[in-house]
Amino acid sequence: MADLDAARDLLTFIDASPSPFHACATAAARLDAAGFTRLAETDEWPAQGRARAYIVRDGSLVAWSVPSTAIATSPFRIIGAHTDSPNLRVKPHADVERAGAHLIAVEVYGGTLFNSWLDRDLGLSGRVALRGGELPLINVDRPIARVPQLAIHLDREVNASGLVLNPQHHLTPVWAIDTGGFKGFVAAELGVAADDILSWDLMFHDITPGALLGRDNELVSAARIDNLCSSWAAIEALTMATSSSDTSVVVLFDHEEVGSSSNRGAMSPVLESVLERITLGLGGGREEWRRALAASICLSADMAHATHPNYSERHEPGHLIELNGGPVVKTNVSQRYATDARSAAAFIEACEGANVPVQKYVHRNDLVCGSTIGPITAARLGIPTVDVGAPQLSMHSARELMGSADAGLYKTALTAFLNP
Ligand code: ZN
Repeated sequence: MADLDAARDLLTFIDASPSPFHACATAAARLDAAGFTRLAETDEWPAQGRARAYIVRDGSLVAWSVPSTAIATSPFRIIGAHTDSPNLRVKPHADVERAGAHLIAVEVYGGTLFNSWLDRDLGLSGRVALRGGELPLINVDRPIARVPQLAIHLDREVNASGLVLNPQHHLTPVWAIDTGGFKGFVAAELGVAADDILSWDLMFHDITPGALLGRDNELVSAARIDNLCSSWAAIEALTMATSSSDTSVVVLFDHEEVGSSSNRGAMSPVLESVLERITLGLGGGREEWRRALAASICLSADMAHATHPNYSERHEPGHLIELNGGPVVKTNVSQRYATDARSAAAFIEACEGANVPVQKYVHRNDLVCGSTIGPITAARLGIPTVDVGAPQLSMHSARELMGSADAGLYKTALTAFLNP
């Protein structure tokens, strides 16, 4: 019988995390409950060598657990994941009026499957910048907007020719008939004066809660499985880290879906900066930090493509991936994935020790492979890195699908990786 408690806990994590900022807050609350201390990057970190602590930089989070026996050259065992998912984000000038309706102007974030956003009841979340520097989070988790699909009577060819959506014209959510005024609405939700709102990072989400699905609850249906499933599994693994030799680190990056190049994405120094400060906290200098890095290993946790039963011809026939078949090691010799023999072996051995089955994924030679934070982190830090993920379908849809047993298997695998 599958570990449905793990799948249900994953759903709780996802439902509480409609934006990257909320994902960090959800992860932070779990770390707080597990005895981790929140530090500010601007503060001096007093003797943090022997500590369980974390920092939040906007939509990214880095957390670590240093064993009491650690020395300045102790290696790091790192798990990386990402907090962001493709979605629709509100433009600065939000109000649009068209054909007697009020709409909200949006920009497409990441590799969104446009059709998956049609006819869903949408809530709003993110953060708002107020005069004076405050950045409150906001989560309007009730239906306030919708992108209505065109009726078939006005597009008779749609089923035969395919649905073509222009992101500028066809993805704008409708939210009011008589009165618009988006900024005033946000101000009222926050209980602040509209004039005090200077800017925002706001986005829409499907308000339907995640659910177990199928004849025997063997599937998980939810938004943002890519990559909150990995974020959840990594945070849970870290709270159970008991390594006596290595420092366990989890980094949840923002902006993976748009290339990772930002103040807090995988291309930023956010992880490197924390690792260096951990070594400094243990009394080491640059020499010790470089020695620690040279002995470290990284696991890049992102989701993997399960073989789609309706499109099995799109998959590499020698590397079919089953739902509920366990975590997947992803390999690409062009380094779209950072896995090599050495890093793959470290993960496979950890899984063997925990009795978790492992699957192996390779993209077809005649399709362009996706990528993730693995190669970026490997290139920045020079640390051997293995790209792994739990198998899923409908990747980048507003509503994704994975196996419920895979949630628990993934969490167990990542926990084993941190506890060699
Ligand atoms: Zn992803």
